[in-house]
Formats: sequence, structure tokens, C-alpha cells
Amino acid sequence: MGLILDLARQFLRDYNIDGLPASGVYEPEKSAGRALFEAIDNQPGFGVAAGDSIWQTPTMPGANGGPGDIIAVNGQTPEGYIAQLWEPLRQAHPGYITRALLGKDQSGTHDMWRYEFTPPNPQKTILLTCNAHGFERLSQIGVFLFLREVAQNWKSHAGLAHLRWNVRIVVVPIVNPWGLAQSPPTRWNSRLVDLNRNYDYRWTEYVVTNPSETGSKGSAPFSEVEAQYLRDMLDQYPEAVAWFDMHDVNGPGPSGAETITHILYAPNPLNSGAAINIGREVFESIKGPDDNLLCFGAAPQPSAGNYATARGLIGATPEATTDGSSSSRWTSLATTRAVKFWGNLIIRASYQDRPSARVCAPFVMQARWAAGSDPSILTSATTYADIPGLNLMCRVPGAGLMIFDGVATVRVTGAGTGNPGRVFLTPKIGIEQNPVAVASAVRNDYWEVYDDVQSGRVSVIPFKAVIPVAGNNGPISGGPQLRAGLWWRTSTETPGATIELLRYQATLEFRPSDHVAKFQYYRSTGFMSESEGAMKQIFPYPNPFAETP
Ligand SMILES: [Zn+2]
Repeated sequence: MGLILDLARQFLRDYNIDGLPASGVYEPEKSAGRALFEAIDNQPGFGVAAGDSIWQTPTMPGANGGPGDIIAVNGQTPEGYIAQLWEPLRQAHPGYITRALLGKDQSGTHDMWRYEFTPPNPQKTILLTCNAHGFERLSQIGVFLFLREVAQNWKSHAGLAHLRWNVRIVVVPIVNPWGLAQSPPTRWNSRLVDLNRNYDYRWTEYVVTNPSETGSKGSAPFSEVEAQYLRDMLDQYPEAVAWFDMHDVNGPGPSGAETITHILYAPNPLNSGAAINIGREVFESIKGPDDNLLCFGAAPQPSAGNYATARGLIGATPEATTDGSSSSRWTSLATTRAVKFWGNLIIRASYQDRPSARVCAPFVMQARWAAGSDPSILTSATTYADIPGLNLMCRVPGAGLMIFDGVATVRVTGAGTGNPGRVFLTPKIGIEQNPVAVASAVRNDYWEVYDDVQSGRVSVIPFKAVIPVAGNNGPISGGPQLRAGLWWRTSTETPGATIELLRYQATLEFRPSDHVAKFQYYRSTGFMSESEGAMKQIFPYPNPFAETP
């Protein structure tokens, strides 16, 4: 055991978190974040594992070159970022941070560097890449500021200490130095290739629809040397648990409720459950006035995040938002927001195993009703309408299956003696912008059931519907996203029939999975217009690019 390690452990033992007595062990669950998570646990549709601890990010400096700023982004060269940010940090921590020269970029003019933050005995490895799109400079600055916190302020939080002493962090701060060096900086590299479309994940199937905007995907997977360096990085650290490829978008600012502040792209329908679950948990823990809207994007492109996921890592493309779109958009607000989002993602990922066994908590919601003192619920309509009051709603915390089933007890009158009234019920379950459900066929599920009921008689009719889900897409601050309810109607073949609802019991169950691709969802083809005798695979989709499976 080295002296430095012993000293470090002594320091850990002696250090208090949030005023709690030092226990001798760094336990994340002892930080102040615990109470917040317990509060979130009480909300329907969301649960997190005990022991998770958010990092309350201190205010970060801006990067507009003003007083107190970390750097001046405008006009900054790739070499300037290395000299002003990364090298001083490395030189301040020579036993912790090293760097390796990867070689020249595709243009042959810029050196490409990889920095490694290596604790004495790393138990995990996390890969980070930034600035693959040359103009997205917040991606590099945000990661730098977070890693500076890990190196210099790890004593302030258990998650940072965990990274500092247990986790190797490998970062390529500037994946696209040529694009960054242009005036103005560009998205693509020197051969007008979008480096984030140059990986081998579904490269052949991917069609570049707007090359003037996004660049080409290259002549072949890994045709560009910049993408080769990143491929080789994963080959060198195949045990890495996560690879986050940071990006950013210009935002109009955080004031409007509609403004997206955080985006998490993950492939579809590969095993993106772990990344989605972590992203959802992080966002739930940090959301506030400046962090007000998370969107999940499911984009089956040949990107770094998708390549990493296909290789079994927790892979994702987390995007943060700059402060408006002006030439001074790298404000403290923007950097703090990015560091808070990405830092907590990295902390959370560092507690995961690979392949991740992480799942959200399962939950059940139930609705029960019986006729009594309430007014009768009746319908004579021959077109579908909601059964009033039967409407279960929740947010979807992560990947899994949503199952909606139950029974309804009905009585038919007015159909005439000996003349059955036909009762139709359709359970309906749907999620807005379900990122798993590429095809509209499983975005919602409607499964009509019916029974023929003699006038005056009672019938008990069961119903069931199921859809695969991932974390909600779209705004989550606007309220519940998944809805489950029941439609009912009678038939034009039995005019005059009235259905009276006597009782119902309906259950909505979330059955979580860490791995979206583990879902296998089949339907018989022996109904409606399809031929009989076969099962149709509904999920996973044979071709995620097709709008219909
Ligand atoms: Zn980008």
C-alpha cells in the first residue's frame, strides 16, 4: 500500500459530509441528496434506488472572456483550449492526470490529445468525448469544469470522491479540432464528414438527408481518423462501463417553460434502458428554474453514443443548452447547467455495473369503483366514448412494459326480450411520444372485447392491453404522460340497448427492465384482416428505421 494512498484514505476517514460524523467509509447515502430522493420516491411513477446522491453543483464560471470567466470562447483555437484549460489542470495534478498524443487529425494540422484521470487502483473506467461538432464548445468546457471539480473539490461530495479515488476517466476533449479551428467553427471535419455519423452502428442503413447542414457520413465506417481514435480508445478500455459523447445546442434561454434545457439521445431499440433510467433520475434530481425540460431522443444513427451502446456500454449523447444564441452565450448559467447535468450523469454511471443490471422500481396503480350512492353510469351510444372517471395516469420512469388490465361488470336493458345487447369494451393505453414505440402500431394499444348480454342480465367482461415503454419523451414538467382508460359502446345491431356500469377494477402495472431489447412482444395474426396461424413480432422491431414494424 503506497504512502499516498494511505494518506488519501486517512483524509477520507477524517472528512465529514454535510456535517455528519465521519464513519470511516464514504457512503453516498449519507449526503444531503438522500432526502430529496425520498421525496421524489413518493411521487407516482418514479422511483430511485436507495444510496443515490445528487451533487449540488456550485456556480461555474462563464467562458465569454469576461471577468472571472474560465476562457474566451470566441476566436479560441484548439491549441488555446489545451494550453489554457487542460494543460494547467494536468500540471497541477501530475500524479493523477496524464495525457497521450493520439496523432494528427484528418486535416493533418492539429494534434489530438487524450487525457486520463487515473486513481491508484481504478475499479471502473468511464469514457468521455467532447467537441465532435466543432462549434459545440460548451461540450468541452462543461466536461472540463466538471473534471476540475473532481480533481480539486472531490472532498465536497461523495460522488466526486468516488470518481477521484475509484474511477478512471478517459476524455478526448476535442474530437474535431479542424471544425473548431474554422471561423466560424463548423459541425464537420476537414473532409466535410459529420464525425458523429462515422461509426459502424447501422452506418449502411443511415441516409444523410441534409448534407449541407450535417455533412456526410464518410466513405465508410471509421473512414475518418478522428473516429478511429475513439474506436481505438474503446478497444483499449473494453471494460469501460459508460461512454458519454457530449454535445450542445443553442438555446433561447431558460425562461420559457417550453425551452428544452437537456436532451439525452440513446439508440432505439437497443439496450438503452440503463442510460435512459440514469438520465431520468438525474434530471428529476436537478430540475429547477434553470433546468426545466428534459427530452429523450431515440435516434438510430451511426453515432458515438449508439456505437458505445451497441458494444454493451451505458452509451448516450447528452446535450446541454447554451444561454441563448448570441456571441456571448457561454454564460455562467449555461456552464453551471451543463456541469450539473453531465456531472451527475457521470457520477450516477460510475456506480453502475456493466452490463447494467439497473432497473427502476416496479409499481402498480389501481382504480376501483362500484355503483352505489354515485349516479349511475350509462351509455346507449354506438360510438366509443370514455368511461367517465376511469383514467389512470402516470409518468414513465424508465424502460419496461406497461400492462393495463381488469374487469368491468355491466348490465344491459332495453334491448328487448330475448334480444341480446352487445357490449363493447376497449382498454386503451398510450404514452405521448413514446421513444420505444417507433411505430404508431404500438405507441398505443387498443384491444376491443365484447359480450352479448340478455336484457336485464349482468355480464363480467375482462380486458387487457400492453405496450413497451422507455422514459417519457417530450416535456415532463407538464404533468403525467401515460394514460390508461376504458372505452365503451353498444352496437348498432341492438338498437335501444342501454349499458349500465355496475363495477370495475382496473390495474396499471409497470414492469421494469434494464434492457429494452430484452422485450419480446408478439401478437397472434388470427384477428382482423390478417391471416391465421402465425405470431407477429411487434417488438423489437425488425427495422427500427421503418415507421411500421
Ligand atoms: Zn453535436
